[in-house]
Amino acid sequence: MMIEPISSPATLLDLTLPEIEAWCVAHGQPAFRGRQIFQAFYRELVSGYDQITTLPLGLRARLAAEWPLAIPEVVSELRSKDGRTVKLLLRLADGARIESVLMLYPPNPESIRPRATVCVSTQAGCAYGCTFCATGQMGFERHLRPGEIVAQVLHFARFLRAHPWGWTAAGSDTSGTLDHVTNIVLMGMGEPLHNYENTLAALRLLNDPMGFHLGARHMTVSTVGLVPAIRRLATEGLQVNLAISLHAPNNTMRARTMPVARKWDMDTLLDTCLDFAHQTGRQVTFEYVLLAGLNDSVEHATELGQRLAPFGTLAHVNLIPVNATSAEFRPPDGHAIRAFRETLQREGVNNSVRAERGDDIAAACGQLRTRDDRARRTKTAP
Ligand code: SF4
Repeated sequence: MMIEPISSPATLLDLTLPEIEAWCVAHGQPAFRGRQIFQAFYRELVSGYDQITTLPLGLRARLAAEWPLAIPEVVSELRSKDGRTVKLLLRLADGARIESVLMLYPPNPESIRPRATVCVSTQAGCAYGCTFCATGQMGFERHLRPGEIVAQVLHFARFLRAHPWGWTAAGSDTSGTLDHVTNIVLMGMGEPLHNYENTLAALRLLNDPMGFHLGARHMTVSTVGLVPAIRRLATEGLQVNLAISLHAPNNTMRARTMPVARKWDMDTLLDTCLDFAHQTGRQVTFEYVLLAGLNDSVEHATELGQRLAPFGTLAHVNLIPVNATSAEFRPPDGHAIRAFRETLQREGVNNSVRAERGDDIAAACGQLRTRDDRARRTKTAP
């Protein structure tokens, strides 16, 4: 796989615990200093060396000189009216702008625990050009480093620690507070498997039991379906969830909006996913954005169900009625959604409906950055 260059410099958050320990030893420090540094960032959630008061001043100064932190700068922060979605536009050290989103979910029939899910970007821009995606229209800018991916999660971890979220579940008397990130989904800007090495390095950093210790089963890698990378992911021994942006019941329809389908057709993709499911024992989620009049008929549901039948219980379809703010597309009505679901169920395919989050703050991938691009162009126009 060809790796494109990254223009931003390496930072401390790119390093694993053994690498930080090795740096400490090479600089005449005991190895345990490495653990102190690592845990300061991933457990105590400090955002600067000056906050690690257990370290000698000289060491802090040396770290600052050799390992810049380059914490992403918040360009804008939007909160949805219901307070459960927070979206950020972040500026990285070299000026690249990316989006990250925090989504808060109270307990529900599918999950008895509340969730604080961070939707993370893995690239600035994207090379895959899906026509329904604002990021896809920007083109590819660059891959993110592991530390730039990790930093998005740490930002919201600090946010939640400072502002624990209290909820009261509708229709019940359950209530409580949540003060930490429980899940991450790689569904922000970019195709995570195009930036394979850095994405996997970031997941391993967040998974490290000595630090942030987020379980791999709480991480979801979402891809348009890069077949060789999915095959490789199956061999990593990391129990992450795999989600495929499918959005169509056949390759002809898929190729209309997703150019990637011309490189790897749907049969090859589904065969690869089935191998992934068997090899890892993990269920694969298929994301399917419902577009009224385009891919939401009972015939489409039947075709989709038949294609996924070989998975049995190892497939789950996540239906996503398109964002109501979309200029081009309409979400189906409740009747059409119910009929689609029942048809899938009859074909033996488990499914659920995910409500789009944060309509009022342009939470879909790339929209906030697109707005910012427009505003900048207007400002600089003669
Ligand atoms: S949907 Fe994902 S892969 Fe497709 S253009 Fe958008 S960011 Fe890229």
